[in-house]
Amino acid sequence: MGLQFFFNHECSDFDQSSGAIQLSFRDQLTQNFDAVGFALGGGSWETEEIPLRWPTFFTSKGLQWRPFVPSNVGYELAWTPAFLKEAEGKALKNIKFSNRRGEQRGDLMVTSYGLEGTPIYSLGEIGSIFIDLKPDLSEQVLLQKLSSLQENLSPLRRANKVLRLGAVAKALLFHFGGEAVQSLGGLVAVIKKFPLELLRARPLTEAISSKGGICWTELDESLALKQYPHVYCLGEMVNWDAPTGGFLIQACVSQGVWCAQHMLADL
Ligand SMILES: Cc1cc2nc3c(=O)[nH]c(=O)nc-3n(C[C@H](O)[C@H](O)[C@H](O)COP(=O)(O)OP(=O)(O)OC[C@H]3O[C@@H](n4cnc5c(N)ncnc54)[C@H](O)[C@@H]3O)c2cc1C
Repeated sequence: MGLQFFFNHECSDFDQSSGAIQLSFRDQLTQNFDAVGFALGGGSWETEEIPLRWPTFFTSKGLQWRPFVPSNVGYELAWTPAFLKEAEGKALKNIKFSNRRGEQRGDLMVTSYGLEGTPIYSLGEIGSIFIDLKPDLSEQVLLQKLSSLQENLSPLRRANKVLRLGAVAKALLFHFGGEAVQSLGGLVAVIKKFPLELLRARPLTEAISSKGGICWTELDESLALKQYPHVYCLGEMVNWDAPTGGFLIQACVSQGVWCAQHMLADL
């Protein structure tokens, strides 16, 4: 039994009508196999120069497939030039992100179009989000700290003196804090629950991963296609999703091991 990997030949079709699995490649090469594992990837980072062509030959066989949509992706917000001048390329460190899907601690990076970062990748969706800029301090403690200064300073100046806010937090409060930051109570409220609006996800070409691909209903437990015995599909080309941070790669590699074990057992 031999094992072959194909990295530099683009597969353009497969056929099992004569028993063996015949792979055809775009450079005219054809080859027969006893078993094949396809790991052709998801839709993220697809470009005009490198289009994803495998869905065409899978769907032409009537295999069910869900179109790819972005996952683990940044979101756009309506920043202003004045805010970006102070905050672009900088991180909101150790914040607590929340929206109707849940809450998560982490860092967010301000980009020219919006926000990137693990909490957004995990929970992002269009709509309202809230950022707790000081998740380790209660409202009461914040109010005490802000009130402790004897000098006659505005709430924002007090915050700058006693709260050790980062550049992005300061810029958010200054440029988007509105009327709230005029009073100590209002300032504390927005520090604990700063409201922002996610307008849209960045495109598939910029996503870390994608949802969509070959439907689970086409696969048996070993990840072989039910209609094509010994033809396995694994990794991001199958319709599943996971958060980034190692989980995607882990899932892909685990599926590879799972398929390989079943292939060996089958043959
Ligand atoms: C910028 C970026 C950062 C990421 N960071 C992380 C991270 O920190 N942690 C994490 O867990 N995941 C991360 N990921 C996601 C992770 O890399 C993917 O989930 C994983 O690589 C998918 O593995 P795969 O084998 O399914 O597909 P891929 O790694 O995409 O491999 C598919 C391969 O198939 C080839 N191919 C496609 N069509 C054909 C064809 N017709 N014939 C022959 N070959 C073909 C492609 O050229 C490609 O080489 C990141 C992804 C990106 C883009």
